[in-house]
Amino acid sequence: MNYIYPEYEIVRNYDKCIGCRVCERQCANEAHYFDEDCNKMLCDDMKCVNCHRCVTLCPTRALKIVKSDHTFKENANWRGDLINDLYRQSHNTGGVLLSSMGNPTPLPVYWDRILLNASQVTNPSIDPLREPMETRTYLGKKPDKIEKDENGNIIPKHKYPQLELETPIMFSAMSFGSISLNAHKSLARAAEECGIFYNTGEGGLHKDLYKYGKNTIVQVASGRFGVHSSYLDAGAAIEIKIGQGAKPGIGGHLPGTKNVGEVSATRMTPEGSDAISPAPHHDIYSIEDLRQLIFSLKEATNYTKPVIVKIAAVHNAPAIASGIARSGADVLVLDGFRGGTGAAPTRIRDNVGIPIELALAAVDQRLREEGIRSDISVVVGGSIRSSADFFKAIALGADAVYIGTAACLALGCHLCRSCHAGKCNWGIATQRPELVKRLNPDMGYKHLVNLVHAWTHELKEIMGGMGINSVESLRGNRLMLRGVGLNEKELEILGIKHAGE
Ligand code: SF4
Ligand code: SF4
Ligand code: SF4
Repeated sequence: MNYIYPEYEIVRNYDKCIGCRVCERQCANEAHYFDEDCNKMLCDDMKCVNCHRCVTLCPTRALKIVKSDHTFKENANWRGDLINDLYRQSHNTGGVLLSSMGNPTPLPVYWDRILLNASQVTNPSIDPLREPMETRTYLGKKPDKIEKDENGNIIPKHKYPQLELETPIMFSAMSFGSISLNAHKSLARAAEECGIFYNTGEGGLHKDLYKYGKNTIVQVASGRFGVHSSYLDAGAAIEIKIGQGAKPGIGGHLPGTKNVGEVSATRMTPEGSDAISPAPHHDIYSIEDLRQLIFSLKEATNYTKPVIVKIAAVHNAPAIASGIARSGADVLVLDGFRGGTGAAPTRIRDNVGIPIELALAAVDQRLREEGIRSDISVVVGGSIRSSADFFKAIALGADAVYIGTAACLALGCHLCRSCHAGKCNWGIATQRPELVKRLNPDMGYKHLVNLVHAWTHELKEIMGGMGINSVESLRGNRLMLRGVGLNEKELEILGIKHAGE
């Protein structure tokens, strides 16, 4: 007996349907089918994940997906989703509930409670169409003071390796395996075009993408999949992944069904085996151990590349960040609890970690108080949804942002949160060849470039409105922010005043 009722209903307008069967061919979940007996298209609502593929491609707009209004008896404590999840575990899987993409629960989004300032009368605004605006950003340790040569001239270069970004946006780590090669190709090419960086995630670097090395951040995760000397040499920077916002405290899991062909070859793992990266790095149990790995990677690449350490935003993030800054890392990545993922236990995704806004403000403050803020750059990720979030992140203290879910949306993702099933109808989170080819990298990269350019334009507009002409002047400039509807404690942690003050 199946206790679970479909979450969505597929509504077909038979007056508009011409029976072309496009929907049937497009749905990898096999929700649509043609019934010979009644000579018409029918569907199985239970199989629908609400990805909008059929809705978008139906030539006559005959389809829509609606949320089912089937309901349990009202109960403010036992919500319908909790009851259904319990049935899923007790009557079906007997295992951990899996999910993907970001945390969808209605926890506070502080970006929406922060407002920006603008110039009026004094400190006039700047027109970005007529005056230069500087968005170029350098990530990496900075010297404490300006260095001069024997003639008193400033030495423009310093000894610390830097990542140079044309705009402070990067594509966050998504592994080949969790996403398709066509998605990776789109990200790599867009990063090159925009003068920014994409990140391999923990799946290694496909041989076709080595040519994008100067715009690639290569990741070293606990499983060490695909890590070898040419891989380290290929990237512009190396990222050690300690944690991920969507699933803090646990490792990664690529099912054997997805670890096939070029994915397993790139990862250097046996084909068909589950690629499980452990929760901890088995050689890291302290900041001293982390320091050893950082310097091993620096040594392996002749001290030419910045080393990044990525952690999930958790309760004691400021203290951890302080340790990471002192461990020799050049860049710290803070990944917030709304960050996306290819697969995560649902309960962990929805209940572990803290909002990125609070973590960022607390980390920036702590590093400033300890006088080590210029020792390390801070990059934040975890559901940066628009240029407004991006801008507020910079003003709260970030040097740059990572975008993952937003990049997937630009590639066509419709946030069905079913990446873990490997049947992404949009060709992104899948390895099935017939689905992968739905994402054309020649188009995908253009959409990503458009997004980065659009956000950069908006960044310049907003900066100009404030009378600021460089990202450098915006960074950590919390005077430009005001809170609305926040309590004293929240304002204190964010380090901003309330609107009206
Ligand atoms: S794609 Fe649209 S028109 Fe074609 S069979 Fe499906 S519902 Fe009907
Ligand atoms: S899963 Fe996607 S393609 Fe399939 S029926 Fe639902 S919305 Fe349409
Ligand atoms: S990447 Fe694909 S499977 Fe994942 S949420 Fe987006 S559309 Fe759904």
